[in-house]
Formats: sequence, C-alpha cells, structure tokens
Amino acid sequence: MLGTMQERQLTLDHFVNRAETYFPDREIVTNTAAGLQRTTYGAWADRTHRLAGVLDNLGISAEGRVATFAWNTARHLELYFAAPCSGRVLHTLNLRLFPEQLTYIVNHAEDEVIFVDRSLLGLLVPRVGEFNTVKHIVVMDDGVPNEIPSFDGGPEVHDYEELLAGAERTEFRCADEWAAASMCYTSGTTGNPKGVTYTHRSTYLHTMAAMLADTIGVTEADVILPVVPMFHANAWGLAHAAVASGAKLVQPGPDLSPGTLARLIEEEKVTLAAGVPTIWMGVVEELEGRDTSALRVVPCGGSAVPTSLSKRFEEVTGLPILQAWGMTETSPVGSVAKVISSLEDSSEEKLDELRASQGLPVLGVELRVVTPDGEQVPWDGETQGELQAAGPWITNGYYNDERSAEAMTEDGWCRTGDVAVMLPEGYLKLVDRTKDVIKTGGEWISSVELENEIMAHPAVAEAAVIAVAHPKWAERPLACVVLRDGAEATRDEILAFLDGRVAKWWIPDDVVFIDEVPKTSVGKFSKKTLREQFADYELPGVADA
Ligand code: ADP
Repeated sequence: MLGTMQERQLTLDHFVNRAETYFPDREIVTNTAAGLQRTTYGAWADRTHRLAGVLDNLGISAEGRVATFAWNTARHLELYFAAPCSGRVLHTLNLRLFPEQLTYIVNHAEDEVIFVDRSLLGLLVPRVGEFNTVKHIVVMDDGVPNEIPSFDGGPEVHDYEELLAGAERTEFRCADEWAAASMCYTSGTTGNPKGVTYTHRSTYLHTMAAMLADTIGVTEADVILPVVPMFHANAWGLAHAAVASGAKLVQPGPDLSPGTLARLIEEEKVTLAAGVPTIWMGVVEELEGRDTSALRVVPCGGSAVPTSLSKRFEEVTGLPILQAWGMTETSPVGSVAKVISSLEDSSEEKLDELRASQGLPVLGVELRVVTPDGEQVPWDGETQGELQAAGPWITNGYYNDERSAEAMTEDGWCRTGDVAVMLPEGYLKLVDRTKDVIKTGGEWISSVELENEIMAHPAVAEAAVIAVAHPKWAERPLACVVLRDGAEATRDEILAFLDGRVAKWWIPDDVVFIDEVPKTSVGKFSKKTLREQFADYELPGVADA
C-alpha cells in the first residue's frame, strides 16, 4: 500500500523562497577589504534570481558547470543558489590547489564560466590559457584594484555587477531532486583531485541534518560564521543551513587572521563559528578577554581536534569545541562528538575521550568499521578497521573517474581511507588516515594520538608526527614540533613528557623543531610535505646499527 503523502521534490529553491518570504530583513554580513558590507536575505534572494537570468544571458548550457574562485562572501552565496536553482551545477574551485590541479579540475568538470573575486585574479589569470571549456570569466570586484584582464580569442571578461544590473529576475528551474546541484573536488594529496557531485536531494537532506538539535542544531536565531571556505566541502553545509533556517550569516571574506576573526565573533555576536583546528589554535588566544557570551557552539573537524585545544577553548570561552567528522565524499557531516545525556556525568577523563573522538553518526548516516577479514570491529576501543559510510548524502563514487570502483565496497559503502576503532559507548574514534599511520614492526602507531599528546605540552604550539624509514622496524615516528612564541623545551623534555602518556614503543625516535607545520589547501597539517622534507632524515642510532 502506498501512503497518501504528496510527491514533492527536495530542491534548493525551497530554501531561497523561505528565506526571502519569512526572513527578508535578516542580515548577511561580508568582511571586505573596504570594511563590513551588509545586505539582507530579501535583497540577496532578488539578486540570486537575477543571477539565474545572468547565466541564461551568458548562454550557459542547461546543465552547465558554473565555477567559483572566491572567498566566503554574500556574492558567493548568490552563486551557491543561482547555479543549482537554474538547473546548472555549481563547481567551487579550491583557491589553494596547485596550479596544475586547478587546470585539471576546470577541464575535468568542463566549467563553462568562472566567477572570480577581483582580489584573486592573480592566481587564476595565468592558468586561463589552459582551460578548454571556459567561455566567460566574470569578475566580482571586491575592492582590490587588480588589473582586469582580457584574453585575445579566449574567454570573454565581464563585470559581475554590470551583468546583474542588466538581467531580469528569472524564475528558478529545478524540478528534479536527483539532478546534480554542485560539485567539489577532494584536495588530492595523491594523484589528481577526485570530483564528488551532490544532488539537490542530498544537499537538502544534509542541510536538515545540520539543523538537528543532536548535531549542530542550526536555527534562525543563530549568527553563523563559516571560517571554513565555501570551496571546502560546501562550507560544511553551513551556507545552506543559514539560508534554510534564516540565520544571520557572517562571511569572513579574505581576511582569516586570528585577530579579525576574534573581532567578528565579538562584534557580530556570533553564536556558531566553524573551522579546522589550525584556525582555532590561532583564534583562541585572540578571544581572551573578549565578550564571547553569544557563542553557543564551535564545530570543528577536517582533522582531529587536540584535547589541549578544546580545553583551552573552554578556558577562554566556557565552551569546549564540538568535534565533527566528515569528508568531501560525505557532504561532509557524518558524525558529531556530542556527549549524550546518559554520559554527561562521566569522569573528566571519559568526557575528554568522548570529545576527542569523532562521535556518533548523524541521523541518516550509517558508519561501520571493518577489519581486513570483512568483520565489523567489536566496541572495545582497540580493534582497528577501515571506516566505511553509507547514507543519502554519501557519495556513490567519483564524477567520471576510474577510481570510483576502488572507493566503494561491493555492497555499496564508501571507503573512507580512515582507520578507526569503536569506543564501548558506540562512539567512533579515528586512529589515523591510512596513509599517515606509522607501521612499525608489524604494529601501527596513530600519528594523531601522538600529536594529541605532544600538543598537551605547555610549550608546544603545533606538532605533527610522521613515519621515517627504519632498517629494523620499517618505520619509526619522528615528531615535528613548533614551540609557542617565547617558550622553550628540549627534545628530551618532549620525549620524557610522553613517557607514561603513550606506550613505550610509541615514543618517537626523535624530535625536530620547525618554525611552522606546512598546511594543505584547506588548512590541515600537510604530513605529505613533511614526509618529503624529512625523507632522508637519519634517526638517532640508525647509523651505528
Ligand atoms: P582532504 O581529503 O582534501 O583533506 P576532506 O576534508 O574531504 O579533504 O578530508 C576528509 C578527511 O579528513 C577524512 O577522511 C579524515 O581523514 C579527516 N577528518 C575529517 N574530520 C576529522 C576529524 N574530526 N578527526 C580526524 N580526522 C578528520
């Protein structure tokens, strides 16, 4: 028997219509080189409809890919909806990809137009000659007076505001929830980046998941600061959730310096601010002494949140960081490490462990940790396996890519490449990324856990642990440590600090002090770069062995 419910498509136009109808005066604030710019959902929605008209006027094809090369701004949010709501596909380009990877993804996605912030022209223009399908470059003037280029025989160059001024308000066309709405490429630490395409349906459901009280719980009363870029896995769903709920949105633009972010949090009375751990490591110190009473949740993921960071955050703001796990392939939110009510009275140590874990799967997502024999691991906190994910906003492979098959299991689960255990409480705990785990004498050491412990040392600002080749043990850990300004610690002090905190055989063979841990294009520790840098590093004792 079928139910009596209406067959309505889960398409993104609904979010825009709702914000325009019920929250027309809610603000979208953008921090620009010229200061804060304020607009409202009412004005934004009207411009978004006109932008759909601009895409028609430019002759972008029915399912054409509309690329953005832009900071988090109100204009970027217009593109976020105008492209999918006019039947096209938004493609957010990562500003920090290697140039050849940028060219690869533009050509692979067959982008027809690129919308670029004027301040970013310097990064894009030198590559334009290599783009095979781009017919238009639309410059969004953000007040940085870079020269406007022209391309002889190449793409036409336009001004965003001029195009908008010349376009009519156009009705949205997106009738099929299964149609692609947007696409995002992984940052490609090995090989070329891989493209994930999100449907209207997956984005709609993922947005609702971000609004669940047991996850991030976005509501209309929130003031959201997505420090996470709009090109990094959909700004973790926050741009969509802001529009869907009618929450005020604070877009940080190009200036992601800790002082500016801290000021925005205080002055705009931000309730929800999200970014990768390396962002908060800087911002937390700038929040000291500021009024952060409006803050209610700080979701953080992309890499493991060190306990020391969460504790420092709690010291300064009264709030521990809320860790979430996800990946481009999972839209991205897959699990959230909220302490559930029945565990709230746990020991301090247990609470730390739960907050340092990746948490419980979000309603709608299924997660399993599978051993090489194909068995799910027991909830013992010890048995390791590969984390696999399934659900309506988890990808089923990559866009037009031979690597899709190896990314999926035979029964249709997405293989994450993360090694994990299950805690007795059912919380997921990531051990490491498969490629970062240190394989020593047939056993595995979690670089993440070692880093977590080293960063608990008061003199340490950042620590990344990598595998270095060892003649006897295959690999041994090397700790790369950045000391806090003015702080001092020796190699032996760091190693002695670890004694008793981790198993003896986990203690790194050496410590090197560096000025900064290199970061990936989305601000994570780039252990690949460190591994290259220390590829020939001779561990103590090895030469005499
Ligand atoms: P990239 O692969 O370019 O880093 P993603 O953001 O898609 O881009 O990366 C997803 C990966 O980030 C996950 O597979 C996992 O290894 C890591 N990750 C995400 N969230 C967490 C977290 N809370 N703790 C530890 N690792 C995380």
